[in-house]
Amino acid sequence: MVQVAVEAPTHTGLGAPLDYLSDRSLPAGTLVRVPFGKREVTGVVWQGRRDDPAPAELKRITETLAALPPLGAAWCELVAFAAGYYQRGIGELALAVLPPELRKLDDRQIANRIAKLQKASAVAPSATADSPAAELPPPSAEQEAALARLAESEAAGDAPTVLLHGVTGSGKTEVYLRAAARALDAGKQVLVLVPEINLTPQLEARFAQRFAGRRIVAQHSGLTPAQRLRHWLAAHLGLADLVLGTRLAVFASMPRLGLIVVDEEHDPSYKQQEGARYSARDLAVYRGKLERATVLLGSATPSLETWQRANEGRYVRLGLAQRIGGGALPAVRLVDMNAMPKAKNAGGVLSPPLVAALQERIARGEQSLVFLNRRGYAPVLHCGECGWKSACPHCSAWRVFHKLDRSLRCHHCGFSERVPRACPECGNLDISPIGRGTERLEEQLADLLRSETAPPPRIARIDADSTRTKGSLESQLGAVHAGDVDVLVGTQMVTKGHDFRRVTLVAAVNPDASLFSSDFRAPERLFALLLQAGGRAGRDAAHAARSELWVQTWHPQHALYAALKRHDFEAFAASQLEERAGAGLPPYSSLALLRADARTPEAAREFLQAAAELAATLPGADAVMLYPPVPPPVARVADVERMQMLIESPSRAALQRFLAIWLPAIHGLRRDRAAASQRVLRWAVDVDPLAI
Ligand SMILES: [Zn+2]
Ligand SMILES: [Zn+2]
Repeated sequence: MVQVAVEAPTHTGLGAPLDYLSDRSLPAGTLVRVPFGKREVTGVVWQGRRDDPAPAELKRITETLAALPPLGAAWCELVAFAAGYYQRGIGELALAVLPPELRKLDDRQIANRIAKLQKASAVAPSATADSPAAELPPPSAEQEAALARLAESEAAGDAPTVLLHGVTGSGKTEVYLRAAARALDAGKQVLVLVPEINLTPQLEARFAQRFAGRRIVAQHSGLTPAQRLRHWLAAHLGLADLVLGTRLAVFASMPRLGLIVVDEEHDPSYKQQEGARYSARDLAVYRGKLERATVLLGSATPSLETWQRANEGRYVRLGLAQRIGGGALPAVRLVDMNAMPKAKNAGGVLSPPLVAALQERIARGEQSLVFLNRRGYAPVLHCGECGWKSACPHCSAWRVFHKLDRSLRCHHCGFSERVPRACPECGNLDISPIGRGTERLEEQLADLLRSETAPPPRIARIDADSTRTKGSLESQLGAVHAGDVDVLVGTQMVTKGHDFRRVTLVAAVNPDASLFSSDFRAPERLFALLLQAGGRAGRDAAHAARSELWVQTWHPQHALYAALKRHDFEAFAASQLEERAGAGLPPYSSLALLRADARTPEAAREFLQAAAELAATLPGADAVMLYPPVPPPVARVADVERMQMLIESPSRAALQRFLAIWLPAIHGLRRDRAAASQRVLRWAVDVDPLAI
């Protein structure tokens, strides 16, 4: 009899591995096919053979994928921990993070794939072909000091978790590369995580250049199923030395793991937003401890959770305070919008001093980057006669006006229609856009920057709309790098990671909304975004001296902007942590969100209230605090009403213990109280939620 983790949907309540009959003794981590209900499913042997008498009705394993070496004990432990912590089934999570092709291929097909890979790597150039050290740029004094301290903490025995806090342009990547070189030389594998697929090609190129002859594979959702399997197998078999990927790659099977790098560790993309809502950053730290691998968390604006752990001495802190080549950080200029005349044609959105600064850049042949976190032309269309607005019929949100394809599109459910010629309510022909998105900003910039004496400015826009087709982002970025663009307009997409050499001015047009958001993490995200965006300016030391970050604001006295002006992350973090300590918010408490979706808000609320009543009867309830159910900012999406309930505890362990009792009880509740809870379409828990 063996235990097999199978992919059972959470609502079945079958989260734990199930018993099956097996003639042979199978090691844990072996992939098998077993009958499950009326289907045959793929599973992972979780516990090898036990000899207790098996119940007669037990089913037999149908196929063993023996060609595939079993998943390692550490991998199984990582999955078990993640499933427990994020409250999902072990098999559900295990199968979700393995390549989907493994479910389709039989043992012989897998054996073929493996043989092909092994043959290919036998003819590949040997790993001794690393480029000679003479060609490498010498590390800066700061980089050298950081690497020396890293080596010191590694030599001390424990695999350290290290926060590499480096200002933008300080050369964090060079530290990653040199730390990776050391791990590779010691015969280890290296895992590098990045927040977005867009950022993988440029990092992959840098690693490939540095480690010529080493086998590097990527793991992210942009790969074809066949590629994903091939890359996964190469890592699992130990043929690949380096794995580069997005959050999913934290589960890559790597038998000789020695180093995990998490670049831009503060980035919200590391948190999975559906299914098992895991944080790849947090799991990377856990995995490092588990496998005695060094974990390097890099950021110019670390998350406050990470910063706090470094303050407590649980992480080693290494700092890079200087830009490579001695370039200055961009000067921050706050434009007080209260003092600006209301320019008629631009609705006051671009202040005259900013327009003048942009014109200066164009005249000097330098580039500017203007960002606004809203795509489309205008967030809403409006009829001045009857008050009609372009609401989405399926969501509690406005449909966005996209001028280029004349559509009204809902960014929540995707519902799209052609823009009506006249008001659909009263027939008024004069319906007008309110507010602005990147499309409109692009149009207004073209207008404002036109001059009688010079050729028209070259303006490009990068956002989710302009980069929809494959390869379009690369070609647009290429145009910026080639100097064919004067002003680049975009959403926060343009602020991340890209190395624009000729940009000397970065402007945030309207960032104030985050100052007063109900989400306590909004200021942290805004500060990171602005500092990150400003970091795009002056990366070429020749231009660094006159690079500037402009922020248009109605609240120039705000403490966040004051800290930004001094590039003072430490002061900002200290003030935020003080506020959070006072309010009992993370990292001084642990949170979970219980979400419910239903056809009516009442049904969703009723379900959450029933869950709360149930909670009060359970042991450990006194260690947690349940808040009343509330709708999220956009309550209805695609005709589904959403409601959420916050659970808070000063102790992470107490919250975990309570969730482990409460959630199975909620499954029971759903079966018992058919009337109320069947109207709930689905419910799920989000542990350590990022957006509240
Ligand atoms: Zn009207
Ligand atoms: Zn919608």
